[in-house]
Amino acid sequence: MAMYIVLLGPPGVGKGTQAKILAQKTGLPHVSSGDLFREHLKNQTDLGRLAQSYMSKGELVPDDVTIAMVRDRLSRPDCESGAILDGFPRTPVQAEALEKMLAEFSAQVDVVPYISAPDEVLVERLSGRRTCRAQGHVFHVRYNPPAKEGVCDYDGSELYQREDDREETVRRRIQVYREQTAPLVSYYREQGKLVEINGAQPIEQVTQDLLRALEQVETS
Ligand code: ADP
Ligand code: ADP
Repeated sequence: MAMYIVLLGPPGVGKGTQAKILAQKTGLPHVSSGDLFREHLKNQTDLGRLAQSYMSKGELVPDDVTIAMVRDRLSRPDCESGAILDGFPRTPVQAEALEKMLAEFSAQVDVVPYISAPDEVLVERLSGRRTCRAQGHVFHVRYNPPAKEGVCDYDGSELYQREDDREETVRRRIQVYREQTAPLVSYYREQGKLVEINGAQPIEQVTQDLLRALEQVETS
């Protein structure tokens, strides 16, 4: 399948969970800006240190460094025929930069599944989220528990609670989403690329709805 998919939606709605499932089903690479920043943080790069100062407060990392990082990732050969973007773009400036980047490869954003859920659902999901140290696999203490508490099913590494998944920061992140990212909903709707997906359903059901949305793009 050759296509650039942008998963849009508030923090905690399930973008990363679904992106990983879709990556397996389609063979497209999963490109998560949050994972890229956390990778820099783990490797203690300058970018990692800069990003951390914003991430820990629930604020967005500045557009210029974010765009440069994603551009670098999308320029790698595995993204040549498409990618599943998760967490990028998050501002109108990033959306325009993405359009220009893809145009350089004679490509475009093909479809934008917009996954949504009420705020209470987001807060509950984020506060129960546990993330794997090694590769960022995601679990939930109630909704998607690992076989053994505190241990990643896929690679056996430790599961931890992200600093920004504490309740005070979670509220700020949802507010930042409304102010800076939500305008992208109308941006992509006007381009005819938006497909609305109900994120307040079990994981498998959301996947079904997403796969149906992708099939429609392929056949259109
Ligand atoms: P995002 O990438 O949008 O921030 P995640 O995929 O990390 O969201 O999911 C946030 C949390 O909610 C994780 O703990 C995940 O296991 C859980 N989760 C994801 N989708 C669902 C769902 N459909 N129902 C219940 N819990 C979910
Ligand atoms: P979530 O799972 O809640 O959607 P992410 O892992 O995508 O969170 O992002 C975590 C943090 O990384 C954000 O709160 C922000 O500080 C930073 N970040 C990730 N993607 C971007 C982006 N596209 N632009 C600016 N900051 C970003």
